[in-house]
Amino acid sequence: MDFDVTIVGAGVVGLALAKRLSDSGRRLLVLDKEPGYGRGISSRNSEVIHAGIYYPEGSLKARLCVSGNALLYRFCERYRVPHRRCGKLIVATCEAEMAELERLDASARACGVHDLKWLTGAQVREREPSVRAVAALFSPSTGIVSAHGLMQKLYGQARKAGVLFSFETEAVGVQAEPCGSRLTVRYRDGREEAVTTRLLINAAGLFSDRMARLMGWETGDAALYWWKGEYAALDLSGGQLNTLVYPVPEPSNAGLGTHLTPSLDGTVRLGPNALYLPGKREDYRVDPDHLPAFHQAASRYLDGLTPSMLRPDMAGIRPKRQKPGDPVKDFLIHSDSQRGHVHLIGIESPGLTAALAISEEVGALVEGSYFLIPRST
Ligand SMILES: Cc1cc2nc3c(=O)[nH]c(=O)nc-3n(C[C@H](O)[C@H](O)[C@H](O)COP(=O)(O)OP(=O)(O)OC[C@H]3O[C@@H](n4cnc5c(N)ncnc54)[C@H](O)[C@@H]3O)c2cc1C
Repeated sequence: MDFDVTIVGAGVVGLALAKRLSDSGRRLLVLDKEPGYGRGISSRNSEVIHAGIYYPEGSLKARLCVSGNALLYRFCERYRVPHRRCGKLIVATCEAEMAELERLDASARACGVHDLKWLTGAQVREREPSVRAVAALFSPSTGIVSAHGLMQKLYGQARKAGVLFSFETEAVGVQAEPCGSRLTVRYRDGREEAVTTRLLINAAGLFSDRMARLMGWETGDAALYWWKGEYAALDLSGGQLNTLVYPVPEPSNAGLGTHLTPSLDGTVRLGPNALYLPGKREDYRVDPDHLPAFHQAASRYLDGLTPSMLRPDMAGIRPKRQKPGDPVKDFLIHSDSQRGHVHLIGIESPGLTAALAISEEVGALVEGSYFLIPRST
């Protein structure tokens, strides 16, 4: 089998790329080791459309989140993907947290987010009667999206454009060819087969560092560290929450803090926490012993929260490029034009928001490169 482009990974990033690169009659293959698309990180997250508030100025995360936010809303509106522009409150619960809110406001502006509004504690109460704060930043361009709905639409569009999907198909070896790569794939029944491809794109999520090594890119910079994020389901007993509510971010830089996320179906989740997984085991259980910490964290800004309102929900794993104590690292998008390889590594949050922007970025990077010329007819 011979392809122009092969994408390893059918998460939201691989699907967005497949749709973006599927024009012009290219032979395009997407493979995933799981039995369907979106079984990895893309279906285990907060489903928040981030505005781009938290990321360092000049970083890929900041740039691709801001442009991805606009692209994602446009895509959702055009193709009727379930979403809601519900807005977000970042709350300061004491005077000591005001400096951090001011820092966030300034850094958001520097990154091109100009719609944040300051609210007083009373204005927060008007918006969300059960939320307590001395002040808050309100982000009107933050929202929520159905990750499944988004992936379903991208998958359908890519298939319609002729992209071939192969599930239960794991990439297990890569060799250089004069005009691209020879990829060995293993099917669920253990059979192996070779695929040749001009361009090989590594969108393997949690395993993108391992995939990079298979592709011959050995660099410490691409190493991934796994951080689990558990969620608790919150029973508001008939009460409602319309807005996302976040505390000021954790000083550890591991997460954005235990936040309240209303989902499209009206349920509310609390989380995620941030637990470093040195053993890199794909374990999605939620430890009930962690519920008191959720209760404690959210009680700082949510009135009337009792431990009995919380129960274990779901968990996801973040592919971070930093371990505990390291400074925050950016997405890594690396193209090796000699080999015809592209790597997407460390695509943690805001990767769902940024997926369409990432696909534009990579499209522009590879379009017109030797490996995509001539196009197949
Ligand atoms: C707890 C948590 C909360 C988050 N919240 C948000 C949020 O609110 N908003 C936001 O914008 N982002 C959020 N994110 C980030 C977002 O979910 C991810 O950035 C995004 O889903 C990454 O998509 P992906 O396609 O890179 O990875 P994945 O969805 O994991 O896709 C990678 C695919 O590659 C496949 N694969 C791996 N190795 C191989 C191989 N060798 N052969 C074949 N297939 C392979 C896997 O099976 C997988 O399906 C969150 C993440 C987490 C963990």
